[in-house]
Amino acid sequence: IDAEEFRKHAHEMVDFIADYYRDIESFPVRSQVSQPGYLKTLLPPAAPEDPEALEEVFADIQSKIIPGVTHWQSPNFFGYYPSNSSTAGLLGEMLSAGLNIVGFSWITSPAATELEIIVLDWLAKLLKLPDEFLFGGNGGGVIQGTASEAVSVVLLAARTRAISENKRKGLSEAEILSKLAVYTSDQTHSCLQKGCAIAGIPLENLVIVPTDSSTNYAVSPAAMRQALEDGVKQGLLPFFLCGTVGTTSSSAVDPLSALGDIAKDFGMWFHVDAAYAGSACICPEFRHHLDGVEKADSFNMNAHKWLLTNFDCSALWVKESSHLVSALSTTPEFLRNKASDLNQVVDYKDWQIPLGRRFRSLKLWFVMRMNGASGLRSYIRNHVRLAKRFEGFVREDPRFQLLVPRTFGLICFRLKPESDDPDNGRTLNSTLLEAVNSSGRMFITHTVLSGVYTLRMAIGGPLTQDKHVDAAWKLIQEEATTLLVKGPS
Ligand code: PLP
Repeated sequence: IDAEEFRKHAHEMVDFIADYYRDIESFPVRSQVSQPGYLKTLLPPAAPEDPEALEEVFADIQSKIIPGVTHWQSPNFFGYYPSNSSTAGLLGEMLSAGLNIVGFSWITSPAATELEIIVLDWLAKLLKLPDEFLFGGNGGGVIQGTASEAVSVVLLAARTRAISENKRKGLSEAEILSKLAVYTSDQTHSCLQKGCAIAGIPLENLVIVPTDSSTNYAVSPAAMRQALEDGVKQGLLPFFLCGTVGTTSSSAVDPLSALGDIAKDFGMWFHVDAAYAGSACICPEFRHHLDGVEKADSFNMNAHKWLLTNFDCSALWVKESSHLVSALSTTPEFLRNKASDLNQVVDYKDWQIPLGRRFRSLKLWFVMRMNGASGLRSYIRNHVRLAKRFEGFVREDPRFQLLVPRTFGLICFRLKPESDDPDNGRTLNSTLLEAVNSSGRMFITHTVLSGVYTLRMAIGGPLTQDKHVDAAWKLIQEEATTLLVKGPS
């Protein structure tokens, strides 16, 4: 890097990004590109032989890339769950890219490992996690890229533990591997299924307990216990139970304390996935949703979803880090060093799947310092206030219905179908969804709850204000009116 050339170009890039955020509302929220392969027709088939100027690259970004971008940071983006960006997060990300270290073991950059240890202890304290999840004893936290990676690594740790426990009971490895079973609810994110595939758990040994509206889609402890008893009778070896705080479809909260007791009774690893809603639990009024987390072996939340930290930053805590190390540690000669050999340090390569890792703690550190705990709490509270506002709008319009009570920033609702509607509102609501999204003025997504096609309005964008929520509702109402007059085509 030539420092002066970098300074010039980086200023241009910062200007570009600052202008992007300034003008973000002028872009259609959902990319207007509908033709897969659109970019191939616009870019040359091979890399340029000779260097090109940044200006030429910028010109292509404006004309070819931006049209293919869905603007996740738009204040009118209400799809999936939010993915937060912020000045602090972006600055931390920039510094991480600038230093560009590969911090797989302590020796490769002591500051990277040590800052990660410190910020994850800070965040654990904000969440009031039990001390066993903090460094100092046997536990601690690690930043993974995503919740999917987090569940995969703890699944691998639990599997290694279960294999050795069952071997001690005299079972062969082949027998154990064919019988190890994972238990969860039908609302758990599909990343657990992927984790099972990675861990070699046969799909039929992933036992999925159904939920329904009677518990607002939280898993019933009685149903979970019954499923486990049935599994044991059939010869399965249950070893991993996953509960969720803030499920992806509807933000349901599983009863952690009861699940923790069940996991203990069956000698299972208990993992809590709070990828989305974990952030809210830094506020005392939401912390009760984590009651029972003290019975968990591992806990995960995505700071990149709702805590102002740019993607990717998924925080995972474990009570016994030695289980991760037993499952994932490899030490070839070329990575050996005195600090590791003397067992004096955390080598995060042993807490994750890849070897190399980015200096991601910087951005979380910037976010916590530049917002303060009070700023982060107000940030969450403002979104919850906006979500309540939207929920109120839905309640006031008799054409609409709420499908589950709102807990955090997600509202699940639909336009009520006629009682004789042959597909119970699916076409009506999917047409409404497409109408609002194709307007480019806002973006929402959907799910299905008990067979009912459900619209999801997830409020949690850093730039979202009352006026955006109000405008979104107005647009939904207008499109609904048009649709009810015209009927879905
Ligand atoms: N768990 C929950 C509850 C989620 O809502 C999501 C995504 O929205 C995930 C896991 C997967 O997240 P990631 O993309 O971090 O793997």
